[in-house]
Amino acid sequence: MEAQEQTNTEGSPDDKPTEVPLLDAPAEAARRTARRSVREAKPKQSREPAAELPYAEVVLSLELSHLDRVFDYLVPADMDAEAQPGVRIRVRFAGQLVDGFVIGRKAASDFAGRFEYLQKIVSPLPVLTPEILDLARTVADRYAGTLADVLRLAVPPRHAAAEKTPAKASDANPEKPVDGAPWGAYGGGREFIKALQRKTATRLPRAVWTCLPATDWATAVATAMHAVATDAVVFPEPEAVSEPAIAADSADSADSDDPEAPLEADDPAVPDLGPDPTDPALPDPDLPTDYDIDTENLRDLDADRYDEGLAGTAPRADESVAAAPSPEEASPLQVPARGALAIVPDHRDLARLDAALTEVAGPGHHVVLSEELGPAKRYQNWLAVLRGDVRMVIGTRSAMFAPVADLGFVAIWDDGDDLHAEPRAPYPHVREVLLLRAHATGAAALIGGYTCTAEGAQLVESRWAYPLTAFRSTVRAKSPLIRTSGEEIEKERDPAAAAARLPNLAWRTARAALNDGPVLVQVPRGGYAPSLACVRCRKHARCGHCHGPLELSSGHAMASCLWCGRPAGGWRCDGLLNDRPCGGDRFRMLAVGVQRTAEELGRAFTNVKVVSSAGETVLDRVPDRPALVVATPGAEPVADGGYAAALLLDGWSLLARRDLRAGEEALRRWLNAAALVRSGGDGGKVVVMAEPGLAPVQALVRWDPVWHARRELTDRGELHYPPLARVAELTGTPSAVAEELRLLRLPEAAEVLGPVAVEVPRSDDRAAHRAAAKRPDRLGRGDRPEKPKEPVEVPSHLQLHRALVRVPRRLGGDLAAAVREAQGVRSANKAEDWVRVRIDPVRIG
Ligand SMILES: [Zn+2]
Ligand SMILES: [Zn+2]
Repeated sequence: MEAQEQTNTEGSPDDKPTEVPLLDAPAEAARRTARRSVREAKPKQSREPAAELPYAEVVLSLELSHLDRVFDYLVPADMDAEAQPGVRIRVRFAGQLVDGFVIGRKAASDFAGRFEYLQKIVSPLPVLTPEILDLARTVADRYAGTLADVLRLAVPPRHAAAEKTPAKASDANPEKPVDGAPWGAYGGGREFIKALQRKTATRLPRAVWTCLPATDWATAVATAMHAVATDAVVFPEPEAVSEPAIAADSADSADSDDPEAPLEADDPAVPDLGPDPTDPALPDPDLPTDYDIDTENLRDLDADRYDEGLAGTAPRADESVAAAPSPEEASPLQVPARGALAIVPDHRDLARLDAALTEVAGPGHHVVLSEELGPAKRYQNWLAVLRGDVRMVIGTRSAMFAPVADLGFVAIWDDGDDLHAEPRAPYPHVREVLLLRAHATGAAALIGGYTCTAEGAQLVESRWAYPLTAFRSTVRAKSPLIRTSGEEIEKERDPAAAAARLPNLAWRTARAALNDGPVLVQVPRGGYAPSLACVRCRKHARCGHCHGPLELSSGHAMASCLWCGRPAGGWRCDGLLNDRPCGGDRFRMLAVGVQRTAEELGRAFTNVKVVSSAGETVLDRVPDRPALVVATPGAEPVADGGYAAALLLDGWSLLARRDLRAGEEALRRWLNAAALVRSGGDGGKVVVMAEPGLAPVQALVRWDPVWHARRELTDRGELHYPPLARVAELTGTPSAVAEELRLLRLPEAAEVLGPVAVEVPRSDDRAAHRAAAKRPDRLGRGDRPEKPKEPVEVPSHLQLHRALVRVPRRLGGDLAAAVREAQGVRSANKAEDWVRVRIDPVRIG
């Protein structure tokens, strides 16, 4: 280990600490370390070091970058047995008591000074597994963070009572045979399930999956998990497809067999892997332009590739497949089970996957990890995962680090959802963390959604994963009929005009569909009137106190500030009109929220029930009865039997966001809503209010998210943005950002953009994120920052600077290392102001 400074060797614990390097630390860190009373640490007298391996290597929960390393401590003889790698300990560090983990024991230390003893074994349970420790290091390196920060995310706080609850014996491995049917509609889908069941293969398949509309994604994910987590192997034989729609498609794919078309010759599921799993710079121009796979071809590849792993453990799989026409007869073949982990954006998705897993694998074979369970239950479940009592784990974001034993499968559903981006340092993204885990463990990976992200397209382009998409004819059969109503919007941009928001086509569609069932109305903005402008000069209306945006919370309420909550009584516009102060005192709505929309629709459609699902009242399901269901994106209830129609309102407001991902995100939100509508064959219709010429709108109308993702990917490559570049976003006070940029030793290819002044809403600052992290997921939804109940004090100007530094993707590691180093220098110099570093932030705009 590196040479240590004096910090952990300030003589015996009774000496007064002579130097406290944390003195000028950010308040947070100082509090964290000072929290514990020093009395607690009264040393036990006459300690002897352990006879063997007397030194423990420990990592400590210190927030400062320059202290991000391993320290050596002496293990007292009485802690010898318990001070094993992975256990939580407490040590004295610079006069303070600090928590940490033992990560190793050794006979000697390079350090020449005086050693401190471990103060306490917090719990003898090894909670930090080697895989998670390695993963945490990789994630810290990838995101320019500290190991301590990642470990704080990865290992939940101890809950002593839960630790004492005895493990209940459970049969970890579900016995039910695997039914690959949900995957039958996808090119390569059955092969995917089949490959998953060769669990001992050194590398399992990885796929980017574009889920069909009007189908149940949760059952498909559950089936894939089950295939990995059961001992029983049943290779489903690709079925002769009975649906005429799909039969027609075999002809399609035969057509594409033309000699000009590049072959899928390299097995994309088992590529050569360089040091960076997702590297390879730019998209390969020679790749096929259509993601549809010739299943015949894939099956050959699959026979070539996956047998190796099975050779020693089982009879040749393909022979048994040939001999096993039905699942029941294939049962003798057993391949040891492995663990499976799936992460979904929010608790509603989690509930669906929970139900699907219970159905597919039987009850009791999986656990749920989510903040909503509360600390005791969550920790209990987490311990069950740690002990290997269960093989299948599902959860929301924080479960991405779950210590699943013998991990054989990772999955993420809807990887474009913002909720997959961790709001706490170092801001890792679930998809990236899961890919790093799959890369390190050889586990299978499934990146799924109704849409496809540019990142997903990039995994396919780089041949890290192969695409799982349905045949076009199946997609056409399953998707609703989608029409645009953009021109009318273009004519009249005033969103407050009801006529423009519900153009004739939408009106007629909704009317007709209401005879058959519920109609979904998607409104991008929450609240009532979440964005206001001066009626005279059209300047955005801002809070006089904190400069936050003003909103109306109902038709009768006074405008108030979205950030600080203060009412804006007596508001006067401070804009200019014809070079003179405007002084306007009335508002014009720039956007109409879900509540006002529900109000308008209630007036327009008399005798129709209008329900809304947004904010704190999110509905899970709606019955199969006529009703208008007004919802914000992500809060759409599932309709039993599917919606008869959906209206996607105010598309312009999604597309006009100043964000690199605006188009991709608009498409994702539309597809997620439209996927809840009945298929076109069953009369399902969708009307989207957006300009039909735009790429995301075209992708929606044709239901071709992969086309859009590939386009996005190419555009991002040209613009030098992720996922083809790595970007470090540095945010802080002007002087801090300037200093950080000065300190950065960047590779030559790096570009620095900015710094520019940014206004950071409260919901985006560090303190707010720490508070927000304690709240359950559901409140993270939507465009609407959490509105404070009481007016809160905020500095009148959060005038910050932001700089972007970007490098080609292959230099991502160098960029992160440079940023870490600069952070370390500033931290060691006791720099006053914090610079927030985010690598590849989800929003760049
Ligand atoms: Zn004005
Ligand atoms: Zn305010």
